[in-house]
Amino acid sequence: MTTVGILGGGQLARMLALSGAPLGLRFLVMDSADDACAGQFAPMVVGDYTDQAALAEFASKIDVATFDFENVPAESGQWLAERVPVFPSPRALGVAQDRLAEKTLFRELGIPVPEFADVATRAALDAAIAAIGTPCILKTRRLGYDGKGQFRIKTPADADAAWAALGAQAATVGLILEGFVRFERELSVVAVRGRDGEFRAWPLTENWHVDGVLSASLAPAQADEALARTAHAHARKLAEALDYVGVFALELFCRDGELLANELAPRVHNSGHWTIEGSETSQFQNHLRAVLGLPLGDTRMLGHACMLNWIGEMPAAEAVLREAGGHWHDYGKSSRDGRKVGHATLRADAQDELATALARVGAALGRQAQVAPVIEALGPRP
Ligand code: AMP
Repeated sequence: MTTVGILGGGQLARMLALSGAPLGLRFLVMDSADDACAGQFAPMVVGDYTDQAALAEFASKIDVATFDFENVPAESGQWLAERVPVFPSPRALGVAQDRLAEKTLFRELGIPVPEFADVATRAALDAAIAAIGTPCILKTRRLGYDGKGQFRIKTPADADAAWAALGAQAATVGLILEGFVRFERELSVVAVRGRDGEFRAWPLTENWHVDGVLSASLAPAQADEALARTAHAHARKLAEALDYVGVFALELFCRDGELLANELAPRVHNSGHWTIEGSETSQFQNHLRAVLGLPLGDTRMLGHACMLNWIGEMPAAEAVLREAGGHWHDYGKSSRDGRKVGHATLRADAQDELATALARVGAALGRQAQVAPVIEALGPRP
């Protein structure tokens, strides 16, 4: 019996455990919160990632380790990797944890990126604003996620406010200034690479964010073949450069038809949740296959799919359950502002069917604003 250890016990670990059950896998989850939602399906070691005793207990009970959370301290990942196989590797995790390191790697690999500069001091911020121009965004290099740890600078006069908000973190997690990209849309590639180097990617996904948090994803994205090929080529290059094993997401901006890489998420990703019902093999199942050295599953799509994130609290399920292609995911979390508590996926064989189902669900749940951009992307209604 193989036991997969997962560092982090949120919804990603929970969905990994659910998708691993048919493979006969056991799971052990490590999280500092004793009510982490993956704990409803898998035994847990409760402890901080820096707690040596907890890490040792975790390591002693598992055959292989992976992550639901990318900000596990590098030393903890390294310590673990000396005892059990860890995928993705601590090196890949280390690059993805640092916005400066990942953007530098993208650039080295010839993957276009927004303008960026390291910001270590207040003077460096002024210099970076002068070089990059406004608008721009000051971000923490490490530990930022879902739009947290970011300050938008509209004019150079905002530099003081940006420094007041984030300057103290220059010495701890580091800061990076990025040019603000006036993108037409946001896309992501969710892809998987096996232990033997086999690479597969799901169709390109289009994403909509609200306040920096993913609100909806549509797959396949309404993109031409050439754009999807370029996005997949970027993802493949990155995975090979990092000798990456497992699932990852490459988030991209599309501006004037060109792709610019925003970030690498070294784990299963929210923009790949639609793969559970919308693809031959889900991202969760393929991640497990990859880390265990099993053959990877086919990543082809089954029609068209849209994922809607539920943030803060769960809506009533009926409107989605009533749909022929409606699928409900309640993460078993308590309600809290800004928290990802669940999602729904609507799947349909045809694009217009998906648009109609989205319109029905949006109206029933009073979430027209959430579904509207997706319906618009799907094109004219019949
Ligand atoms: P991140 O945490 O970097 O993924 O940022 C969260 C969201 O903020 C992105 O999905 C974008 O919607 C927006 N954002 C981040 N960086 C930029 C940028 N350089 N230009 C424009 N929008 C951005």
